[in-house]
Amino acid sequence: MRVVTTIKEMREIIREKKAEQVSIGFVPTMGYLHDGHIALIRRARAENDIVVVSIFVNPLQFGPDEDFDIYPRDLERDKKISAREKVDFIFHPSAEEMYPGTLSVKVIVQDRTDVLCGKSRPGHFDGVATVLTKLFHIVQPDRVYMGMKDAQQVAVVEGLISDFNFPIELIPVDTVREEDGLAKSSRNVHLTPEEREQAPHLYKSLLEAKKLILEGERDEVKIVSHMRDYITEKTNADIDYIEIYSFPQLKKLDRLEGRMIIALAVKFSKVRLIDNIVLTVP
Ligand code: AMP
Repeated sequence: MRVVTTIKEMREIIREKKAEQVSIGFVPTMGYLHDGHIALIRRARAENDIVVVSIFVNPLQFGPDEDFDIYPRDLERDKKISAREKVDFIFHPSAEEMYPGTLSVKVIVQDRTDVLCGKSRPGHFDGVATVLTKLFHIVQPDRVYMGMKDAQQVAVVEGLISDFNFPIELIPVDTVREEDGLAKSSRNVHLTPEEREQAPHLYKSLLEAKKLILEGERDEVKIVSHMRDYITEKTNADIDYIEIYSFPQLKKLDRLEGRMIIALAVKFSKVRLIDNIVLTVP
């Protein structure tokens, strides 16, 4: 496994690999790898000749009051995990390498961002789409692997790939959870022990909502308020949003039917967590 830090070197490698006509699987990450990332890497490993993992905490997708400075980083650990998982290349550029000056062009996401994290984190998905556009041009993958933990990101990237005609297949991968149901996240290290005990209730609230819907409940307000009461009772977290939309369009549903996402975001003392469930009601 090789760690590549410059765009020039990454490009040279990709040019060589393309000449050999190998398939390239790409897993974009912000590092501090956990089992969620590893699920994406394993899927990429199984389906491609070459696996590239990018590790880049992208400043462009963090708001001024967000956790860019305290986002956990540990490249040595990430290197060990990647080598064990038979990753071929880690692309780990510096912020200066990716953004040497003020950008003259930025990607603005105009659809699927007026709700959920797009609403709570203005500019976040523009930052995501901009860095992915750059990474797609540099890595030129055949397939990109992204987690359903960040379902809105999957929806946005689907639009990016389709609208900008990237010849890339997007492969969404199911959320990997701790045994108690908490979705794995690099940010979980910032939970206090008490919050860590409370955090599995987020997923439990989603399961309760899913159960209600599958049992025939169609009153969205009732379902959301049940989740709100449950989370308020079981945790000290502040609720940012609990919402239900069509998926992947992320539009309001007239009736709770078809493919839908139940999604939530909450704030604990030092960390904001998100989770979701996607389900289909015939
Ligand atoms: P991040 O490093 O948090 O930006 O995540 C990099 C990729 O890993 C994204 O596509 C995430 O959706 C995915 N990912 C993060 N956590 C999980 C998880 N618990 N299960 C599956 N995929 C995940």
